[in-house]
Amino acid sequence: MSSEQQSRFVASITPQSQDFPAWYNDVVLKAQLADYSPVRGCMVIRPYGYAIWESMRDELDRHIKRTGHENVYFPLFVPRSLLEKEAEHVEGFNPQVAWVTHAGGEELAEPLAVRPTSEAIIAEVVKDWIQSYRDLPVLYNLWNNVVRWELRTRLFLRTAEFLWQEAHTFHATEQEAADEVATGLEAYRAVSEEWLAIPVIRGVKTAAETFPGAVYTHTIEAMMRDRKALQAGTSHMLGQNFAHAAGIKFLDRDNQQKAPFGTSWGFSTRMVGATIMAHGDDSGLVLPPNVAPTQLVIVPIFRTDVDRQTVSAAIETFERSLADVMTASGPLRWKTDWREESPGFKFNHWELRGVPFRLEIGPRDVAAGQGVLVRRVDRDKQPVPLDGLAAQLPELLSAYQAGIFQRALDFQVENTHLADTYAEFKAVLEKDGGFLMAPWCGDAECEKQVNAETGATIRVIPFDAPDEPGKCMICGNDSPRRVLFARAY
Ligand SMILES: [Zn+2]
Repeated sequence: MSSEQQSRFVASITPQSQDFPAWYNDVVLKAQLADYSPVRGCMVIRPYGYAIWESMRDELDRHIKRTGHENVYFPLFVPRSLLEKEAEHVEGFNPQVAWVTHAGGEELAEPLAVRPTSEAIIAEVVKDWIQSYRDLPVLYNLWNNVVRWELRTRLFLRTAEFLWQEAHTFHATEQEAADEVATGLEAYRAVSEEWLAIPVIRGVKTAAETFPGAVYTHTIEAMMRDRKALQAGTSHMLGQNFAHAAGIKFLDRDNQQKAPFGTSWGFSTRMVGATIMAHGDDSGLVLPPNVAPTQLVIVPIFRTDVDRQTVSAAIETFERSLADVMTASGPLRWKTDWREESPGFKFNHWELRGVPFRLEIGPRDVAAGQGVLVRRVDRDKQPVPLDGLAAQLPELLSAYQAGIFQRALDFQVENTHLADTYAEFKAVLEKDGGFLMAPWCGDAECEKQVNAETGATIRVIPFDAPDEPGKCMICGNDSPRRVLFARAY
């Protein structure tokens, strides 16, 4: 492809304001994060997308291990009889399960589910490992892939197969399990806010949105640039449901046989989609420096061979100063783009990929001992002395990371509205969208009606919302506090 063709290719990203889903697909495909595959609903994650996933995966893994969990592996297949042991669980997942019915040229005596999640098989296995209170807590985490047969799929956001982690824990007391649910949610909050620069609202799901088989589900919800909500991680209190179903019992300190309390929590490749949609703009990705596969790209500017040599010598000197630069997410990740393309082509190429900083160095810059540093998020352009720039980069990247977090937080606050009546609610939802804090009585029928009539759901009953007695906007019954409604991914 020629430079000119390439420029047109980049320019052909659909503007966000025109069609946000089309913008999203253009960015995912053109920044080469992922591609469609020959298997319906399943995606191929390309190197640039996989590097972003690895960064968030590794950071979450550090949180998981720091809080005492161990990584383990369980099989891809779950025998039907196991999946059916917990009634609500199987009812919730059955429509999405892919079954293996034949293998080795024969029909299997019992069909095997391709795991949609691993609660059932883990409970069955650990029942032999948990005999006494001394065997508790069990704090396991799995990094794996799961399959949920989705009818409508979107790259990263909803795919039939996806990558994730699922933590599964067992505890002697309900309180310990409740503390564990909070530990899982805090890991997700930290990774979302501090690594991905995505502010989140923490809280509890309504009964209708609770994980099948769980007693309650805690969640973090984030706002995307189209003002829709995205569930960014969930942590479930399973109570004794799976322990009873699998017959797990332990001898407690008081010599009584008891069933342990369980939790599970999961975070998936949909967070790559969240990172794209929480920060991106009409030129493509805007990546937080902590996850950006390339944090700084150097673009040489020259016309003649003489200029090329001058610029090249200055860049080599500058590159040597980058060798020891340590950022918040490890050694500085940088590239110099010597490809035989125009500077304009290269600017588009790296802007599309969301590289936080670009350093342009031409012959006149070399003469002045400087380069031109361009910030991706707002295209702020400053001449900077090359001498000493390397030492400033960690701080510049940290400030960039903090800046895009604040930008996303301001956007979330600006687009969160109060509504007291259903008429007001519908008007704001149609006109502005965003998060709507509205009174609700707690009845699933009122919740269902709002969803059926407006497409919005109760995303979360926020922990941090104040008690604020009011009247349910649907039925008029008492509402103890506002809950957060939004249209969601
Ligand atoms: Zn109501």
